[in-house]
Amino acid sequence: MDFGLRDRTAIVCAASMGLGRSCAAALAVEGVKVVIVARRREVLERTAAEIRSATGAEIVAVAADVTAKEGRDTILATCPDPDILVNNAGGPPPGDFRNWDRDAWIKALDANMLAPIELMKSTIDGMIARRFGRIVNITSHAVKAPVAILGLSNGARSGLTGFVAGLARATAEHNVTINNLLPGTFDTDRLKSNLQALANSSKRSLEEVTQQIKSSNPSRRFGHPDEFGAACAFLCSAHAGYITGQNILIDGGAFPGTF
Ligand code: NAP
Repeated sequence: MDFGLRDRTAIVCAASMGLGRSCAAALAVEGVKVVIVARRREVLERTAAEIRSATGAEIVAVAADVTAKEGRDTILATCPDPDILVNNAGGPPPGDFRNWDRDAWIKALDANMLAPIELMKSTIDGMIARRFGRIVNITSHAVKAPVAILGLSNGARSGLTGFVAGLARATAEHNVTINNLLPGTFDTDRLKSNLQALANSSKRSLEEVTQQIKSSNPSRRFGHPDEFGAACAFLCSAHAGYITGQNILIDGGAFPGTF
């Protein structure tokens, strides 16, 4: 299927590794010019070169912190009028809420709620004027079913989800869609560190925790980041203009609800 995205432009945040990288690569395959963002320049530029050589697409690397205003200004100076915005950032650390002070909460809110809202604020009116926009926020399965040790994530991402639910209905008539993609357990560095934290807190080995989580998933495996990237690219496609305000869980069937 042709996704109808050739020569569109995209900003993909937190894209040097993991899920963001896979979203950028999947858009590049569709002929999108992609601006990829992450803080560590060296890793980011290596990723840009790899995606460029695999797809032939134009990939621009912008080393910036999406949680900082200066970082967002740098991104927008490079790409002021994206057709596609994929919001993403690192997830907050696990822990016990008794140990989190205001600063810990502000950091989580900055990364997983306020930075995406600021980037939407800066780009959405241009999308509306051009009558095409696709915004995908990478959130988490924790929005649907909270993970006890990820309270900062449960809280901050739910705030973004509530905000998006309202905004998405206000932009749909302009062919600007906003959806959230909720990863379950995908095989990335972030997952490895979460599994290690779980192993430490439950005094089990990493191997034991890994096997237990894989075997408790109906698919008996972790997701591959490319599976996530493909879903993101479809939501950004010309064909997905009637899908908006949704929270799409990609978790191998782990969430046990009928809906
Ligand atoms: P990952 O493999 O650790 O990759 C994180 C990426 O984000 C890296 O490219 C990192 O590069 C970049 N990044 C982090 N903070 C940033 C910032 N402030 N500004 C710009 N770039 C930043 O993580 P992942 O597994 O792909 O996860 C992506 C998101 O999905 C996270 O929020 C995570 O919590 C969430 N999630 C993941 C899973 C999963 O199973 N993997 C499940 C649920 C939710 P630099 O460090 O160089 O900036």
